[in-house]
Amino acid sequence: MGNRDIKERIKDFLYDRYDAKVQGNKEWFMIQCPFCGDSPNPNTRHLNVRISVNDDHMYVKCFQSKCDVAGPLTSQHLMKMGLSDMQVLKFVSDKSKITSKMVRNISSTKLNLQIPEKKRIPSEYFKARTKKEMTDDNIRKYRIVTDFTKFYELNKDTIDYDKKLGLLMYKESENKNFIGFLNESGTYLQVRSVDDDDTKHIKIPLVKLPIYVSHQPYVLTRNFDLAKRDVYIYVTEGLFDIVNVYNYFMDDGLYMQTGSASSIYGQFKKFSKFYYGVYWVFVRDRDVSIKFFKNLKEQYDYRFKNDAYVVYNELSKDFGDFREPIQVRKIKI
Ligand SMILES: [Zn+2]
Repeated sequence: MGNRDIKERIKDFLYDRYDAKVQGNKEWFMIQCPFCGDSPNPNTRHLNVRISVNDDHMYVKCFQSKCDVAGPLTSQHLMKMGLSDMQVLKFVSDKSKITSKMVRNISSTKLNLQIPEKKRIPSEYFKARTKKEMTDDNIRKYRIVTDFTKFYELNKDTIDYDKKLGLLMYKESENKNFIGFLNESGTYLQVRSVDDDDTKHIKIPLVKLPIYVSHQPYVLTRNFDLAKRDVYIYVTEGLFDIVNVYNYFMDDGLYMQTGSASSIYGQFKKFSKFYYGVYWVFVRDRDVSIKFFKNLKEQYDYRFKNDAYVVYNELSKDFGDFREPIQVRKIKI
């Protein structure tokens, strides 16, 4: 009995029992989530199950905001879904142990990556937007990459090649400039173009794992200690936002960049359970309504032990460019 046959049997089960829909890459199968009941609409499917012909790493992830099911696919998942084929359960049980170990290793350790020396044009761009010199200290503190060809050369034994990284190296060879911010675990690099005519944002996973493992957000901390009394977490949208807010507000705490407003719900759901009892400060762009955050607070009321605030810049789009005027408004939500 080959692995392929067993995986085909799981897929058949998902099709027969749950009328699964397969996504474009033929690796993710979407079904109505039996763990949270999904939404009342019988045609919606929020539980995604990954089964690939290329490897034996199987995952589940439910995209319902109320549902926490996410991680390596286990035999318990399948049993609860109604599968009873012992051969399949044994196979999934064995594979899930390996996958879980791998996920734990990546999640709990930092990839020890080397950051190359700065390049001139991206450094000047960084300084213009943040009023910070790109000193060696700051390069380490903010985990900034400006030379992607050297970055890959220095770390190619540790990271996986990604075609977007390849594209950046190609563009560098044509004298294009980029600036990248590396997350704390070293699994995810967020890059933006310094030249206005190029792709603005490029997201590069540095390990070939599901995005909930690799795409850990970019975080900065200052005397962050959950044992202390009043702990603040600042949530910002953009990369220059977070650097500037970190330097502007100067409060102790954790600063987290989540990307656009649409990803704030998901990130909040994921992280708020680890940071129980903190004060949340949502740093919003001018185009996001305060109602948006009031709704978030209403929906996850039980996760807000202390006050929450929305902060925005009354005079400009956001805090991402110190060449623009800044006047802070803080509103309790
Ligand atoms: Zn669910």
